[in-house]
Amino acid sequence: MTSEMKRTFVVVSHTHWDREWYQPFEAFRARLVAMMDRLLDLLDRDPGYRHFVLDGQTVPLDDYLDIRPDRRPDIERLVREGRLLIGPNYTLPDEFLIGAEAWIRNLMTGIRSARRYGQAMMVGYSPDAFGHIAHLPAILRGFGIDSALIWRGVGREATTSEFRWAAPDGSEVLAIHFPYGYGMMPVMPADRQALTNALGTVRKLLEPLATTRFVLVPNGTDHLPAHEGLSQVISMANEVLEDAEMVHGNYPMLVENIKRELGPRLSELPRLEGEFRDSSRSNVIAGVLSTRMWLKQRYHECEDLLARWAEPYAAWAHLLRAEDSPEKARSDQGLLRHAWKLLLQNGPHDSVTGCSVDEVYEDVGNRFTHCQQIAEAVLNEAQHYIAGMAAGPGGGIAVFNSENGPRTGFCTVRLPVQGGQLPLKLVDGAGREAPLQVIARGGYSPLDPRERVTAGFAARDVPGFGYKSYRVEYGEPEAAAPAAATAIENEFFRVQASPEDGTLTVEDKRTRLRRAVLAGLNRFVDSGERGDEYTYCPPQADRVIDRPDAAPAIRVTETGPARWTLEVRQVYSLPAGLTTDRKARSEERVDCEILSRVRLYPGVPRIDIETEVENRAQDHRLRVHFPSGVQTARSQAEQHFGVIERRIGLPPHDDTWFETPVATYPQKTFVDVSDGRRGLMLANRGLPEYEALEEADGTVTVALTLLRCVGWLSRQDLDTRRAHAGPGMYTPGAQMLGRWTFHYSLIPHEGGWQSCWPEAHRFARPLRAVRTSRGSGALPPEDALVQVEPPEAVLSALKPAEENDGIVLRVYNIAPGRLDARLRLHAPHGAVHLVDLNEESPHPAQTQDSTVHIPLRTNEIVTLKFEES
Ligand SMILES: [Zn+2]
Repeated sequence: MTSEMKRTFVVVSHTHWDREWYQPFEAFRARLVAMMDRLLDLLDRDPGYRHFVLDGQTVPLDDYLDIRPDRRPDIERLVREGRLLIGPNYTLPDEFLIGAEAWIRNLMTGIRSARRYGQAMMVGYSPDAFGHIAHLPAILRGFGIDSALIWRGVGREATTSEFRWAAPDGSEVLAIHFPYGYGMMPVMPADRQALTNALGTVRKLLEPLATTRFVLVPNGTDHLPAHEGLSQVISMANEVLEDAEMVHGNYPMLVENIKRELGPRLSELPRLEGEFRDSSRSNVIAGVLSTRMWLKQRYHECEDLLARWAEPYAAWAHLLRAEDSPEKARSDQGLLRHAWKLLLQNGPHDSVTGCSVDEVYEDVGNRFTHCQQIAEAVLNEAQHYIAGMAAGPGGGIAVFNSENGPRTGFCTVRLPVQGGQLPLKLVDGAGREAPLQVIARGGYSPLDPRERVTAGFAARDVPGFGYKSYRVEYGEPEAAAPAAATAIENEFFRVQASPEDGTLTVEDKRTRLRRAVLAGLNRFVDSGERGDEYTYCPPQADRVIDRPDAAPAIRVTETGPARWTLEVRQVYSLPAGLTTDRKARSEERVDCEILSRVRLYPGVPRIDIETEVENRAQDHRLRVHFPSGVQTARSQAEQHFGVIERRIGLPPHDDTWFETPVATYPQKTFVDVSDGRRGLMLANRGLPEYEALEEADGTVTVALTLLRCVGWLSRQDLDTRRAHAGPGMYTPGAQMLGRWTFHYSLIPHEGGWQSCWPEAHRFARPLRAVRTSRGSGALPPEDALVQVEPPEAVLSALKPAEENDGIVLRVYNIAPGRLDARLRLHAPHGAVHLVDLNEESPHPAQTQDSTVHIPLRTNEIVTLKFEES
């Protein structure tokens, strides 16, 4: 073997920096400062210590320089020299729990930040994420990144440490798998014999998996400082290794070496498609999808508030203000960038997941609150500006639609009482009336002493990504229609509640298919949980409670004309916790109220449900079940840029697996089951965990997790996981005691998910309205900023461009087939360019009659930049 062909062990030194986890952020930052001080000293002192990878994220550098701003020149020098490698991510997120736009903003922020320090490491890096999302190769490719280092969730289908990983749109990256994790060799022994033994182990484990002569030896682990003396150990290793060499390298160097040696053979590497959630070779700790559920709900709310509301409407208001106030546009952009950073800081795989100590969630909660305050302030101002231009001199209200349209939906707005009269109806620019009902009274504005009411109304045909304005008419409301005892009805459905167990029966009045009645819906099913923040583990002797203790209280509380509400109030008597040996649920019971408000609206083919749970029990999992009545072997769930199909049930497994596999899976706004003729979609707001359960008759019931209550960060006594997944710390906050509210919606349909998915997006992002007391009438009574056709071309972002005054618009194809998308921006603009996800590498878009035409592959993501005119 010539030296050219020698086996080469590439030692990559790194640390894995969880910003908050078993200690809160500031405690870990004190350690970060010490680690960085020593690292900078080592890099300057020892030229043989060649490279250090700062965990593929830039936020630790910001955190360090907040404390040691004087070290910036040293950091910039080391980054420029390629000895300190930073980026491309801003934080290392939980891949499944953050949203599509957060993925893109995280890389945009990380790459920009790394470039400001010198340069970005352009290698995909997700060393510790709890499984990997299917669309990641496409996202990375969108930033010009063609490789990814990944670990958890890759199963036995990967027989080599390198393989081609393909996203649903066909994008591929070179995946380099850590077969034994990123912390395989945190410290290389300095003793000659111990080093010889360690190298022997590494060779035995890693060489059979290698596809080239280069073998990655990761040197570092969680919060570990750089290994001083490593350069001497590497010299010793080169004496010990007879037919091989060891070099101190980094990830870009490893990727380049592997690609160069493979050459055209790269295309012959095994090709693996889709997501990785297999627990045969590593923990994927899937329980984090339901730990501290409030985190997931607030995360969803904040990301939508930024990406679907504040950015698009701020962009529109800036276009309308035109040259009046460029400073205003820049300030809004600065505020929104700051809000995004706060949200991204809640995305790490120990933050939004819920698997940290309780103190961490005080910080996380504050970041959500601050993010929301900024986004609401920017949005509110932009919407009032637009509403003011659209309203006549008498004022009125404007309803805004964050989704494609035209869209019909329920909306609320606060209105004053006028001369003792209540708001009676809304009238649009064409004279059409929107039914209105007062849903709450009371509350005053500090500037206006009149009584306020909350009015609910049914807005019809609101333009997509636009608004519709109405004037308000006042009068004496008619007496409400008498309520039927236990049922509500609109043109699509009749819904009633069972007087025995509170479950719902839905009669679908549209369908021509037989068996149009679904029964037993919205059944709450509570079972024991002796697991931890990471992993679900039922008690050996579980006791499942799936009905209330006494007959539920059922009443119709609203009877239209804008909303009908059926209220089902029930009390579940749940075991207070576990027995002291943790093998069973306790005998002691606590009463937990579960209150569901089931809602119908005119023109909306959904059944929306708001459920409040008074959780007084510990160590349990509460789910809500929906029997679909259809037989199928697969579920379809929305993920970041498309829909993922998954087999129902568990994969074949044995007790060598790191964890017992689970059939709970992540989702974005919906999961669907259908037999092709008909089906049931279940939409949600920030409830990411579902399971499709096969019933004895072969039909499928969809279970949605509301609460998974545990008291420990990690435990060692689980039957469902082999070892600890973190420190065994007490976390009473993860019991989720208190009153919580959950939002989900049923969408019965014919055909498959393709027939109704826009309803899930509409449910997830309700219409918003603002009132304005006077207007200029400078804008038409209804308008839209963009037009996107067909609806399967889903708008993901509409935002001010990062580097100049252009407008950026991103769409993806949700459909399982090719699509020709047509887009039009209803505002003066200059040239239109196709750009990458980083808003760079422009080339001209194909435009005809002011409409941009884009062919889209399945799940393909395309970003357009409309230059300023
Ligand atoms: Zn980690």
